[in-house]
Formats: sequence, C-alpha cells, structure tokens
Amino acid sequence: MKRFPAIFVGHGSPMIALEHNELTETYGQIGQRVLKDFGSPKAILMISAHWYTRGTLVQSVERPRQIYDMYGFPEELYQLKYEPEGSAELTAEVQHVLGDTVEVDDDWGIDHGTWSVLIHIFPKADIPVVQLSVNGLLSEEESYALGEKLAVLRDRGFLLMGSGNVVHNLRATEWDNPKGSPAADRFDAYIKEAIENRADDRAIAYQRHPDAAYAVPTPDHYLPLLYILGASKGEKPYVFNNVRNLGSMALTGYAFGL
Ligand code: ZN
Repeated sequence: MKRFPAIFVGHGSPMIALEHNELTETYGQIGQRVLKDFGSPKAILMISAHWYTRGTLVQSVERPRQIYDMYGFPEELYQLKYEPEGSAELTAEVQHVLGDTVEVDDDWGIDHGTWSVLIHIFPKADIPVVQLSVNGLLSEEESYALGEKLAVLRDRGFLLMGSGNVVHNLRATEWDNPKGSPAADRFDAYIKEAIENRADDRAIAYQRHPDAAYAVPTPDHYLPLLYILGASKGEKPYVFNNVRNLGSMALTGYAFGL
C-alpha cells in the first residue's frame, strides 16, 4: 500500500463552501490527485482548527452529525450538506497510536473547518471522516510531536489532513480587501520559506517573527499546520493556494507526499 499524503488546507471564510473560484478549483484538483495516485483512502483524519479543546479528543460515531458552528452567514450556507460516515477502524488506530493521551468524545461533529473544504476536495462525501481535536494544552513542540506519532496512519491507508490558516486574525479583517495586508504577506512568506526548506524549528517557533502576534493572535488555526509538519518530517511540500485575502487571512496550503 502506498503512503497517503498529509495535507494542510487553508480554509478562510466559511463562505468558501459556496464559492467556485480558483481556490476551490485547486481544492478539487488536490482531491482528484489523491484519488488518481493513491486510490480512495480508507478514511480521513481531519484536525480542524474549530475543534479546539483541553486535551486531545477523537470522534467515534458511525454517523457524525454535521455542525454549523458559525454565525451570521446567509441561510444557504446552513442548508449545505456534507455528511460522511465515521470510521471505527480509524478511531481505533488513533487510540492505538496515541494511547491514553487521547479520549473519545462525540459531543462535537463535522465542523465548518472540515466541511467547507472537503465539499470541494472530495465532493461526493463518500470517504469516512474522523475529526481529531486541536489540543490547546500542548505546546508547539508537543503539537508537532503528536503529528509525528500520527504519521504511521499514512502507511495504513488513511489520509491525514489539517484545516486552519497560517494567518488568521478576525479582529483585523479588512472586508473590502481582496488581498493580504503587508504583515499577513510577510508572515505567510516567512512560514512558507521555512516549510520549503523544512526548517520546521522556525515554523514551531513562529512567535519569534515580529508579525506573529498579528498573524496568530490565538493558536487554534495555526496548530493544525504543526501536526501536519510533524507527520511529514523532511518531505518537500507541494504549495497550493498561496494567497491572502480579507487583509488578515492566509489561504496557503501544503501537501506532503502528493
Ligand atoms: Zn476557521
């Protein structure tokens, strides 16, 4: 069996779920490349920025519910359906790999960090999805180390994905700006260069960058990237959707082993 990729996706505004543009087209191409080169994964382990918890949690239900964990968007966004099955096999593998550092928790569901991008990447929703939470109690180094442990799942037929943003500052959103602010551009470029050179220590110690407080005011959207970097040590990235929008949002994605 081939080793499945590990992919970090920048998800931006949830409205991206309804959009059809260059960004969403690229999402679709990534999905097609996975299916063509690797076949269908048994399931996707999705680390979503929007499940930010104390402790590492994993979902286990056969039919996870889709949740609309965002407010004030047009009604049609709340009508959108993306309802993949869960995977008992993947949940068990995660428990096996992480031991008693992970707990099963089914209070959450498939959140918009997951469905707003998977709806474009795997539109058929026929690949089971299990979400793993972002553990807010872990340091950056520990988040990366957790990703290292998850890497083995890639050899067992599972696709590893993280969904978040390298730059994500809602309070600094510039609604009329189709591009990134200078600080967003600088920080995103800095992280991209670190990843391209696999200088993972720089991505881990992102707070050293002068724009870090602006780009990563809270770590929830950034940490999924560290999990994926840990799960892809030394592999060269395929960089996609290398753009910023709304001033303070970076959509840049990284695929490893693709
Ligand atoms: Zn988000």
